[in-house]
Amino acid sequence: MQNLDFLKSRVHFFPDATYGSIQTISFEDAKNVGIQGIVTTTLPSWINGVDEISKNFDGVKNFFGWNGKILTDSGGFQVFSLIHKKGLAKKNINDDGATFTDFKNGKKYLLTPEISQQVQFKLKSDFRVVLDEPVPDDADRETAKKSLERTHRWAERAKKEFLKLENLTEKEFFEEKKERPLLFAVVQGGDFLDLREESAKILNSIGFDGFGFGGVHFNSKTKNSKNSNKKTKNLKINLLESLPKNLPSNKIFYGMGIGTPDDILACQKIGYTLFDCVLPTRNARHGFLYVSKGEGDFSHENYDDLHIENERYKFDKNPIDSFCDCEVCKNKNLTRGYIRHLLKMKEPAGFRFATIHNLRFFMKLINNL
Ligand SMILES: [Zn+2]
Repeated sequence: MQNLDFLKSRVHFFPDATYGSIQTISFEDAKNVGIQGIVTTTLPSWINGVDEISKNFDGVKNFFGWNGKILTDSGGFQVFSLIHKKGLAKKNINDDGATFTDFKNGKKYLLTPEISQQVQFKLKSDFRVVLDEPVPDDADRETAKKSLERTHRWAERAKKEFLKLENLTEKEFFEEKKERPLLFAVVQGGDFLDLREESAKILNSIGFDGFGFGGVHFNSKTKNSKNSNKKTKNLKINLLESLPKNLPSNKIFYGMGIGTPDDILACQKIGYTLFDCVLPTRNARHGFLYVSKGEGDFSHENYDDLHIENERYKFDKNPIDSFCDCEVCKNKNLTRGYIRHLLKMKEPAGFRFATIHNLRFFMKLINNL
């Protein structure tokens, strides 16, 4: 199926495979739970030389041995998080790009809109994202506007580089019949609705296949993984709506880093059909499981949370979720009591069982849309 038809055919959730695998499970497990696409990150691939390896393997799919779809991000989110946390934004970000030092090897790197596209080209991903400049949650209007203008200039440069690398003319880019990787722009503008609207319109005039809503999780402080289990921080529906409301309906709307099951359903209602998030896999490893309503400890609009390390599950002989059809919940030997024990002992099998279950929960959620 062509990339555009694939994305338009249904709602998609892509789990995170930053370093080339969905942590603790195999790609065969991923296929079995119904995963059709994964997200991998440009930055670690680039600084660890995976882009060159991928080139030799004729693409990152062959290298990973994954025959589903792959979305690569621009690398910007990680670079800018790093730079902001160190308070180096003024010094290390300019119109050319962003400079950062890899803490592992001490080397300096310059990430530009062109370099980001070149890496994604070598990875041969199906869906690519242009480099944008996110701003922290608490950014004032002037900062948000400046970063927005830079984001637009970078989007133009990235599009130009994409066309060059893919050997496409502007006209060919818009011919729907032509199979090619898809290119996403990222709408910025902080918490300012008019800036978000302006950003959406300007990016659309440059021309992209889809638009991501940027900056959902971007802040200058270290994120607490336990807090991220709650409703996605700063999920502001009125801001999110500015994309579908101001852009053509045949475009793909991508909720970057969204989110919890409730957040995904809320965004789907307003037109978003593509999501990626670390929540189901990361929370699984911390024993936070998503279960059907009535099956867990904390009730949300469309699901319950089950904190399996809770003492009450010590001798529980039930499956994680009696309404779930994943291989873990269908196996009578894999009781809550046993999985709790494995997770408390930090046994890899426990991480795997919890991850399979959480991902299956997300897949069932989007399959029903
Ligand atoms: Zn299950």
